[in-house]
Amino acid sequence: MHRSLLLACLVACNGDVPHSGASDAQGTTHPDGTAGVDGSSGLAPGTLAVTWMHGSQNCNQNTDPEVQVHGYNTTTYIIRQNKCRTFEAPFIYLLIGTQSALMLDTGATSTVKLRDTVASLVGTKPLLVAHTHAHGDHTAGDSTWAGHAGSTIVALNIAAVQAAFGIATWPTTQGTLDLGGRVLDVLAIPGHEAQHIALYDRQTGLLLTGDTLYPGLLFINDWTTYRTSVSRLAQFAATHPIAHVLGAHIEMTATAKVNYPYGTTYQPNEHVLELTAAHVAELDAALTALGSTPPASPVAHDDFVIDPQ
Ligand SMILES: [Zn+2]
Repeated sequence: MHRSLLLACLVACNGDVPHSGASDAQGTTHPDGTAGVDGSSGLAPGTLAVTWMHGSQNCNQNTDPEVQVHGYNTTTYIIRQNKCRTFEAPFIYLLIGTQSALMLDTGATSTVKLRDTVASLVGTKPLLVAHTHAHGDHTAGDSTWAGHAGSTIVALNIAAVQAAFGIATWPTTQGTLDLGGRVLDVLAIPGHEAQHIALYDRQTGLLLTGDTLYPGLLFINDWTTYRTSVSRLAQFAATHPIAHVLGAHIEMTATAKVNYPYGTTYQPNEHVLELTAAHVAELDAALTALGSTPPASPVAHDDFVIDPQ
């Protein structure tokens, strides 16, 4: 998602219904699972048993923390920003290896709370701060990392992304990054935005797809490029063990084909975050069927909406 960033709580609302998240006072859920390996899949297991904070009917009365941290396992964290502070409420990912860590996206607001939360989870290991893509709701926190000890920010241009992940030829060859006992594959998937990447964690089988695929409105800036990218992504997903496909937002309701209005700050019945490899295949097949000319109006699937803008 992108378009203009809108400060939430500008909306007049009433009748606050605080969420009942599984978070502690700091907004952190602590993982039960360790980063072992599941015998059947070979993947390190994790849990998505979490109730995400999802805004309030009356944001003036919202008591949720600024960020909610969910431990997927002891070395994998998923962080959501408070919908009453930014309607984008993006999901930010933190992957920690034995030698270094990677943060994927810096959020939709510039806040030291997010930086300090991530820094405390990472500890003394070097941290690479990268982005799924360059839209403002994924990069707004970059300035908080400038000059922060132990961290390196990937600049917002394709050459910098290629250099950070060893992508020789953009966008057709894959790159990798080794965090120490934890190798990530990096795919260039422009189309929603020109420098968009997907990231696959070989340790957990998580495929992080940013704004290219998530349960919401899939805004497509470059139809032809997006189709090609999703085709490549689908090929990858079909040939690797995928535990979950995790995007950067939730905008669908739990009801098939129904999304929340753009800019909403309260999603009491939202879709789960996680999608599957089958959704990547479904999107690819849909784009193939739609052909080379983008449709005139959005195309709703059960769990996402194709929106060529
Ligand atoms: Zn975006």
